[in-house]
Amino acid sequence: MSDSAGQAPGPSLSELVVERIGLGIFVVDRDMTVQMWNRFMHEHSGLSAQQVIGRSLFDSFPDLPRAWLTRKVKSVFLLGSFAFSSWEQRPYVFRFEHDRPITGGVDFMQQNCTFMPLMRGREVVAVCVTITDATDASIVQREREEAVAKLREYANHDGLTGIANRRFFESRLSEAFARWQHLGGELSMLLFDLDHFKRVNDEFGHTAGDAVLRETARRVSAVIPRENTFGRFGGEEFALLLPATGLDEAMRIAEQVRIAIGSEPVDADGVSVPVTASCGVASARPGLDTHVSLVNEADTALYTAKREGRNRSAAFA
Ligand code: GH3
Ligand code: MG
Ligand code: MG
Repeated sequence: MSDSAGQAPGPSLSELVVERIGLGIFVVDRDMTVQMWNRFMHEHSGLSAQQVIGRSLFDSFPDLPRAWLTRKVKSVFLLGSFAFSSWEQRPYVFRFEHDRPITGGVDFMQQNCTFMPLMRGREVVAVCVTITDATDASIVQREREEAVAKLREYANHDGLTGIANRRFFESRLSEAFARWQHLGGELSMLLFDLDHFKRVNDEFGHTAGDAVLRETARRVSAVIPRENTFGRFGGEEFALLLPATGLDEAMRIAEQVRIAIGSEPVDADGVSVPVTASCGVASARPGLDTHVSLVNEADTALYTAKREGRNRSAAFA
């Protein structure tokens, strides 16, 4: 056949659009036999329309999630309504390479899919599937999630020692205090402070002082259970939360921590820096109104330990 200008009739405009468009378009019938396959699908899968049309989709692509895809297509035939799938639910349907240079863990092209009923009258005669490349969106989202996790980490931890910061410690303490108020039981905390730390800085320098702070956090972490919240409360002041712990046991732990800190001089870049700490211990008891009062009592006990000569533990009397 030829048209009036004497040329062979080319593809229609809509056929040209389907070929050129930057998304995957294909059509399957009830048996999952491919009826149409556009250039995007050809380019990304490596299989041409000629190779896949007239065959079952699963013969050409044995890796496809067969049960899931069959269920989706069946539901469109049955209900005559659209179905969707986003990369967040199912990162990809077809294992297509993506062309992004740096992908931070995104392995294949992330895909959003639409399943569209093709109707003749009231009957669904085929299902058209579109595949859009959502790789960029997924990379942005992944980067955002990583940034949020990092910010959360920064917000809760002390930059020098890596342990909890005061804000995070106090929020944990406040939760523990509320639980103690509701359920009873026992709750204690330790507040300890390095002795004559100003002298450490003066004699050995601020960098050596920092090394002592890091090593103190490390030594304490090594002798306490991992689940206990341990934080840097101020400059050279640390706090340990002891849920379900009474005063006697808390005093025992305080001594253990104090001895661990002072066990041997800290090696700060080859310089040996002696270090000791004093510790104040307080336990929640009826009549205590807020967690802040508990902190104040631990602080008072710490002051007592300092006054009585340092390098010792004292309980709030
Ligand atoms: P005391 O035995 O009474 O606790 O004596 P102290 O010298 O430790 O007393 P004070 O609390 O007055 O001094 C704490 C010093 O800790 C003052 C400050 O310069 C130092 N400091 C606070 N934060 C840091 C830090 O991050 N790094 C270093 N190197 N020093 C710090
Ligand atoms: Mg001090
Ligand atoms: Mg201090």
